[in-house]
Amino acid sequence: MSRFLNVIPVADAVAAVIRISPSLVTETIPLEFSVGRILAAAVTADTDIPGFDRSVVDGYAVRAADTAGAGDAIPALLHCAGRIAMGRPNAHGTLAPGTCTYIPTGGVLPAGADAVVMVEYTEEAGDTVLVKRSVSHGENVLLRDEDFRRGECVFSSGRRISPQDAGVLAACGCAAVTVAKKPVVGIISTGNELVPVTVVPGPGQVRDANASMLAAYLTEYGCIPRLYGIIPDERLAFEAVLARAVPECDVVLLSGGSSKDDRDMTAAVIAAMGEVLVHGIAIAPGKPTIIGRITNKPVFGLPGHPASAFVVLIAIVRPLLDRMLGIPRPLQRTEQATLAVNIPSQRGREEYVRVTVENGIATPLFGKSGLLNTLIRSNGLVRIPAGAEGLEQGSIVEVILW
Ligand code: AMP
Ligand code: MG
Repeated sequence: MSRFLNVIPVADAVAAVIRISPSLVTETIPLEFSVGRILAAAVTADTDIPGFDRSVVDGYAVRAADTAGAGDAIPALLHCAGRIAMGRPNAHGTLAPGTCTYIPTGGVLPAGADAVVMVEYTEEAGDTVLVKRSVSHGENVLLRDEDFRRGECVFSSGRRISPQDAGVLAACGCAAVTVAKKPVVGIISTGNELVPVTVVPGPGQVRDANASMLAAYLTEYGCIPRLYGIIPDERLAFEAVLARAVPECDVVLLSGGSSKDDRDMTAAVIAAMGEVLVHGIAIAPGKPTIIGRITNKPVFGLPGHPASAFVVLIAIVRPLLDRMLGIPRPLQRTEQATLAVNIPSQRGREEYVRVTVENGIATPLFGKSGLLNTLIRSNGLVRIPAGAEGLEQGSIVEVILW
């Protein structure tokens, strides 16, 4: 028996997804492998950064007051008390008035000094340094803990680690980081008409585009896709592949099976092996979507059209991934744009329209939903809420970028 006519709003479907979402599992990995991973615990600085007042230029550490009024014509004459060595504490004691020390970029500012004159504005004459420009208190100096204070929270959990984050994590003494374990997501393509990428399709056949598309998205989103190939529209094949995939994965995605007979079978198999929670969502494209659960593992039946499968992936599956990864808001990039034309929409269902964006103007690509080319000719999707009867030309929309 199909419950497909019992179409539910997107928000209810997402709520159902969140209810069955497996909880975040963490692992601790070396910092060098952490880029792109999601921090599962906050990170605090284990020391003050920097740990000492330091110069940000090559030059002379001075008392700023000693340089007051200095210029090319009337340089301040300071006695050079020594040279600061890189990576070592200051060995010259407190800087006395009327003196200076040479200091390299990053060198320890001696006590008593409160500024650094760039070497470009100085001239050495024996033990005397001619300072040809005045500096103010604190100039060219980075103060101890100015970057981060010991114990300060530098990163919150849920942050995706960027290359520059890795640098800051290293500075904070994080040789290993605790991150969300990558969810393993099984991908099963269904359909008698499907052939693998390596096969030239015969009459009535099409290549399996969904498996590659879903796997690529999941990889980029920080999951591990696990491909189970193509299965025919046969009940035994469905049961066999699900029996294999469910124990091996955290989540399973089936694509295809949205024609009436197939749909009933996908839902019937999920119901027999577990339970069907949702069958039909008020979303376009993507209405014939199934959300189920087998031995506590979420199992989705996505529509076969690649564009529909993609929309459901973003709108319905992604909230599950966000939960499993501990991401507070989606990683997907968005951009605001102005609508070039009216987009009509049917009230009562959430619609996702492919658009191109150029110079801040979003233009919808209307066309036959089954076409693949709109997936690459467009830049992203505009969401039309279920409560709206379309969007008006000139309105500001948020484009979910591909
Ligand atoms: P279905 O949801 O099985 O009724 O399929 C809807 C449409 O999507 C049909 O034209 C299918 O041939 C096509 N389709 C289903 N699965 C895939 C796939 N993995 N790759 C490309 N097209 C697909
Ligand atoms: Mg099919």
